Amino acid sequence: MQKRKNLSLEEYVEGIKIGNTAILSQAITVIESNHAKHATLGAQILESALPKSGNSVRIGITGVPGVGKSTFIESFGLFLAEQDYKVAVLTIDPTSPSSKGSILGDKTRMPKLSGHQKVFIRPSPSGTTLGGVASKTRETMLLCEAAGYDIILVETVGVGQSEIAVHSMVDCFLLLMLAGAGDELQGIKRGIMEMADLVLINKADGSNKTLTKQAKSSYQNALHLFPQNANSWTPKVETCSGLTGAGIDNVWSIITSFFTLIKSNQHLQIRRKDQANYWLQQSIDEQLRIRFFENKNVQKEFQMLRSMVDNNSVSPFRAAKQLIDLFEKR
Ligand code: GDP
Repeated sequence: MQKRKNLSLEEYVEGIKIGNTAILSQAITVIESNHAKHATLGAQILESALPKSGNSVRIGITGVPGVGKSTFIESFGLFLAEQDYKVAVLTIDPTSPSSKGSILGDKTRMPKLSGHQKVFIRPSPSGTTLGGVASKTRETMLLCEAAGYDIILVETVGVGQSEIAVHSMVDCFLLLMLAGAGDELQGIKRGIMEMADLVLINKADGSNKTLTKQAKSSYQNALHLFPQNANSWTPKVETCSGLTGAGIDNVWSIITSFFTLIKSNQHLQIRRKDQANYWLQQSIDEQLRIRFFENKNVQKEFQMLRSMVDNNSVSPFRAAKQLIDLFEKR
């Protein structure tokens, strides 16, 4: 592969402004990099993008592996692109060991979408902490907005805590579910249900249609028991099929009415302000953590204190305090 030329800040800013996807990708790589030499450039690119960001519809999508997220995103993304929207698809996968692997993964998972002119797909950044991975995705989202993307779909792998991270960066949160035999609510974390603005019972096709209809009413009943949302939206439950495309247009019309409501009652601004605050806290945590582990004094003592914690000769609390004292001595 030809070595990429190093671009200047102005070239990045201009490239993003005109929606050049090669430059956008390269800018994201700079932002994702943890190398000190990229940190200043990354921050400058991001800052120049900020005034042009914020104008997209940010949608989070979650659901357990196998529920049909990639199939749904392909269907929904194509539907949106056909309505002339520019769509960016981002993924948060804290389990992804390297972004190389997931690039191939996403291309094969969403073959029609990945070739579409109006669609930009970026797989999960790699990283050591969920907070770190997610904050890079959030920054990528802002760059995509500056590059003119109207709708950002942020997918999570549906395991662990990544739903919370995604919920903290999107305006609207979709939860994909399956109609199962037995208790419909089994195995679903109540917390995740509470975050959903729209619950979609997926794979409503073929012989599964009746089951999905039944599941829809069980979930509707379950959602009634939840307290009213601060934004006065009543979460909806619908059926759809990512495979056949059935119900996909309805999903978009519900999201549109959701946005009409949260724009008119100012809840969109309130939510985004709260989220910015959350990410401020997250960034402080993450940057402190990185600096802490890069600190020479900390590195010198870390292994020793760790083994002392392992064999119970010092408490984790005391070991942490000693390390932090060393860090502060810098
Ligand atoms: P993900 O792990 O959540 O991304 O799920 P995938 O999109 O990879 O789908 C998992 C499996 O379910 C695949 O075999 C799909 O072909 C199948 N699948 C996905 N969506 C549907 C659907 O709407 N209907 C049916 N019948 N199968 C589907």
